[in-house]
Amino acid sequence: MSRHRVVIIGSGFGGLFAAKALRRADVEVTLIAKTTHHLFQPLLYQVATGVLSEGEIAPATREILRRQANAQVLLGLVEDIDLTNRVVKWRFHNEYNETPYDSLIVAAGAGQSYFGNDHFATFAPGMKSIDDALELRARIFSAFEIAEFTHDPDERTRMLTFTVVGAGPTGVEMAGQIRELATSTLRNEFRTIDPASARVLLIDGADQVLPPFGPELGAKSQETLERLGVEVKLGALVTDVDDNGLTIRYKDGTTERIESFAKVWAAGVQGNELGRTLAEQSGAELDRAGRVVVEPDLSLPGHPEVFVVGDLMAVPGVPGVAQGAIQGARHAAAKIRSRLEHTGDPGAFKYKDKGSMATISKFAAVAKIGSIKLSGFIAWVAWLFLHLLYIAGFKQRVTTLLSWAITFITNGRSQRVVTNQQMVGRLALEHLGRGSSGRLIKGRRDELTPGS
Ligand SMILES: Cc1cc2nc3c(=O)[nH]c(=O)nc-3n(C[C@H](O)[C@H](O)[C@H](O)COP(=O)(O)OP(=O)(O)OC[C@H]3O[C@@H](n4cnc5c(N)ncnc54)[C@H](O)[C@@H]3O)c2cc1C
Repeated sequence: MSRHRVVIIGSGFGGLFAAKALRRADVEVTLIAKTTHHLFQPLLYQVATGVLSEGEIAPATREILRRQANAQVLLGLVEDIDLTNRVVKWRFHNEYNETPYDSLIVAAGAGQSYFGNDHFATFAPGMKSIDDALELRARIFSAFEIAEFTHDPDERTRMLTFTVVGAGPTGVEMAGQIRELATSTLRNEFRTIDPASARVLLIDGADQVLPPFGPELGAKSQETLERLGVEVKLGALVTDVDDNGLTIRYKDGTTERIESFAKVWAAGVQGNELGRTLAEQSGAELDRAGRVVVEPDLSLPGHPEVFVVGDLMAVPGVPGVAQGAIQGARHAAAKIRSRLEHTGDPGAFKYKDKGSMATISKFAAVAKIGSIKLSGFIAWVAWLFLHLLYIAGFKQRVTTLLSWAITFITNGRSQRVVTNQQMVGRLALEHLGRGSSGRLIKGRRDELTPGS
């Protein structure tokens, strides 16, 4: 009899940890993901601001799983899941494939939400992938370059105004890093401009920064950011974003227009579109963020052979963090093993909150672990240690430590390369239309019709 086939969609925390948790099971694991790497998203902001290279936070998935003989890694974008026939349909550019399963773990994560204003994405990239981080790096460093050569004072001001939307951990970290870049790393490098004069604005509709950390740590973080020179605008909703800047509306109804070239969108998440595919076929509900409302054991309603884990699952009390995905993945793997091995059913998923943390600047962070609240240097050391621990791969740990040493000791950044591809690749492909990447690979440029 052939072995039980487990297909896993995604190579993030959910997908990778599900595969690993099945290494001793008598199953055949096929992990399908649209990237070749396992991405450590919590450090994306350091790629965007030149501290780390993309390779340091994104080791190859097949390298991580090379010793796991029961696991195969396939590179492909899953476009459909046929729940009735138990088949996953995917493609690599224009090559189409189907992979059958006996059990399925969907760990496709979440994307950025622009709250119904998807056109904002053209001007304010999100921060979910290596592509996003490199595009942001290109925009941030290019803003200083343009400011150096432009003769128009208004244009110079626009270039030296950086806006970050969303005061969650990613927004706080980005704002702090851009300001440190401007005041420390770039010091003495320009002749026309003073990089330290750059304005960095952190904008959020909420009344405090880092809402999940509570008011005390939120206030401390805001204080540290302001000391660094970040302008924090709270109770401020972004109502429009265009190529020149953005418009915000305050709670009292007043509006403000801010001219800004480099804009970062770090607000809101939206469950992966595969959630909708699952919901349409199973009748499962989606929550407001497009995440699948699963059974207490993380299975899809009516489909005990399908599990949804990580950022794509909606489970009360489980935040969209790495630990939620890791623990959920291990639970789904345990369920599959218990069925095959006829051992005790693990039952409902129980989440163990291991706390959360965010860095604000060099040597300053905040952390909340149960009732313990830490801030400043101690929190920063804890942050450093934990992030190093969770980066996959020995090589990545060593090089990350070296890059951090360069940045923390000398204020320098080793990863300042900016290419045209980073700057315009996403928009150029969008302009060429669906399927253009596959046609380009095949060299069929003549078949490309812009906007088709
Ligand atoms: C900028 C940022 C900072 C963060 N900081 C922290 C932090 O400090 N601490 C913390 O705990 N959490 C943090 N998080 C959240 C944490 O990274 C996520 O909760 C976690 O990555 C979720 O894991 P996941 O496996 O569900 O999704 P992901 O890690 O997003 O993985 C999804 C996977 O699915 C693949 N995929 C998606 N769609 C398809 C498709 N159609 N076909 C094939 N493959 C597909 C993707 O390529 C990816 O491999 C942060 C997130 C971001 C974006």
